[in-house]
Amino acid sequence: MGEFAGVVLHDSACPARTRAGFDFYVCKDGTVVTSQDFLDDEHIHVCVEGDFSVPVTNTGLVREQMFVLVKLVLRLASAFKFDPERLIAHGDQCPGEEFPWHELKIRIDRPPH
Ligand SMILES: [Zn+2]
Repeated sequence: MGEFAGVVLHDSACPARTRAGFDFYVCKDGTVVTSQDFLDDEHIHVCVEGDFSVPVTNTGLVREQMFVLVKLVLRLASAFKFDPERLIAHGDQCPGEEFPWHELKIRIDRPPH
């Protein structure tokens, strides 16, 4: 098992990857789908189901989903011994700009330009 630098976060509107292209997929109902292999040696790719380029309509549901996401990130950080704050957005467009970062209560950095 590699040494991961952290987690890259996507939403399911991500143009660059398909559902099969994520290590973990956090469904709207809070189910976490795990893929068979890690696809990237450096980062763990986690996708949150939803298109966050538009405002969130079901706030309660998304809050639950974010709770599951935080638990997952903390679990991964502890298992692979990286700082849970090493959570980065995939890019400027992914996750979308309505993504509720404030629900994560973890500081997020957008990748440098
Ligand atoms: Zn992405």
